[in-house]
Amino acid sequence: MPAPAIADTTREEYETTLAAAASAAPDLAAMPPAERAGLLRAVAGALRAHGDELVALADADSSLGAPRLSGEIERTAGQLEMFADAVEEGSWLEAIIDRADTGAPRPDLRRMLIPLGPVAVFGASNFPFAFGLAGGDTASALAAGCPVVAKAHPAQPRLSGAYARVVVDALRAAGAPEGTFAVVHGMENGRKLVTDPRITAVAFTGSTAAGRALADLAAARPSPVPFYGELGSLNPVFVTRDAARVRGKEIAVDFLASMSLGAGQFCTKPGVLFVPADSGLADVIAAEVSTDAMRVVHEGIGAAFRTGAERLADHPAVRPLSVPGQDDADPSIVRPVLLGTTAAEFARWSGDLLVECFGPFALVVTYADDGELTAAAELVDGNLTATVHGEPSGDAIAPVLVHALAGKAGRVIWNGWPTGVTVSWAQHHGGPYPATTSVHTSVGVTAIRRFLRPIAYQSVPDALLPPALRDANDLGVPRRVDGVVSDATLTTPR
Ligand code: NAP
Repeated sequence: MPAPAIADTTREEYETTLAAAASAAPDLAAMPPAERAGLLRAVAGALRAHGDELVALADADSSLGAPRLSGEIERTAGQLEMFADAVEEGSWLEAIIDRADTGAPRPDLRRMLIPLGPVAVFGASNFPFAFGLAGGDTASALAAGCPVVAKAHPAQPRLSGAYARVVVDALRAAGAPEGTFAVVHGMENGRKLVTDPRITAVAFTGSTAAGRALADLAAARPSPVPFYGELGSLNPVFVTRDAARVRGKEIAVDFLASMSLGAGQFCTKPGVLFVPADSGLADVIAAEVSTDAMRVVHEGIGAAFRTGAERLADHPAVRPLSVPGQDDADPSIVRPVLLGTTAAEFARWSGDLLVECFGPFALVVTYADDGELTAAAELVDGNLTATVHGEPSGDAIAPVLVHALAGKAGRVIWNGWPTGVTVSWAQHHGGPYPATTSVHTSVGVTAIRRFLRPIAYQSVPDALLPPALRDANDLGVPRRVDGVVSDATLTTPR
């Protein structure tokens, strides 16, 4: 059944929404940590309680299937709970106290992070929940104490209304200030959000082209704001000669599984694989790749996949490893495409070949020697991830690659696969441009850092300081006092 059309948010609705977000900001910022954590837990509980209904709507929009979407609901709820725990723990406040010193005269200085204000969130179509209306961006912004105005994705016409209602109702019932969370519809309203003076930061997940267009808008504002764009990525994988010799077949099979997982619709999909020319791995991969039809989440992604794969297949530097005919009847159905080239051609044409083709596509590059492999590592752009398959001992090129790729990617993976992004304290889902437009992560606890700014109070009386900086430390948050980390109450002067 065709998707119902969703009307754009009207000018009046937009104004009411933005005014409410602006008026909620100071109240949300002032909420004690335990209460703010309660809001996040309430949304997590509501998502689980309405899981079946939401999964059915998301599946009707995306065809991603109930098992995958149910897993995504659980991931999204767990993410909200993780931020709730972090809000209470308090290290994200980065509270620092340098007490006055009369010996080497200096004033009492106390520094911490405070929320920016209302945040605009743009989700991607391939993760309706985890990178959707109440995904990681919204969870981390609310945790920081920032109201959220989310731009609904046009590929989620059935889901977005119900998803928004569940979140708004849960927040209201848990005592959130009115305006803490709202959704707007329509491309023009999305652009308006990015330039709205009431919006203090933008978190975007999606394609590099759309992200760049919106990042430029944010930068051109009379008062520019941070634009945290999580964009596309090639996620190169480098297989050393030792690894190819020891477990080449296993690497080939696992690569194909990672490349075609979810019809290749992961921002962490491995899109380029470097293998030794004399290993025969390119031929193994060509023989093993499936040509089965796969459904992508919407026709736009299917059309972009076909155009992108055809353009790359026509390039004089590549040869087809597996290029099945695409089904013309349904633009949402695609078949995996694999192309091959040599490291020498790659070195010449990397600018043309290093483009994301979102869907089940990969380029296999064969290298003649280690010099070609390290030269290729230098040529790749900024990526979310880079992976090395090497042997733990005696594999001389492996450490060279790990070191080089740390300068190119947000996450370096050893003998694993980039699809699958753990939500945890140590996660970094980011990387140099064009993978992102920022130095921060959008997944994991430190994603909260994007929506905070530092403030220092100089010689301000204890009673006028925020609780986290007062001598008593009633919140029990960790603080760096006169250079030493502690959660103690300050009782004696320096
Ligand atoms: P998309 O087409 O870029 O859409 C993302 C959002 O941007 C939508 O709300 C879209 O809505 C809006 N938009 C697109 N063009 C715009 C423009 N010119 N002006 C204003 N708004 C615009 O991305 P997608 O198809 O949903 O997702 C696939 C892409 O996301 C892939 O490239 C994938 O790698 C990337 N992705 C990245 C991550 C990550 O964490 N880095 C995660 C998942 C996906 P409108 O159409 O209404 O404007």
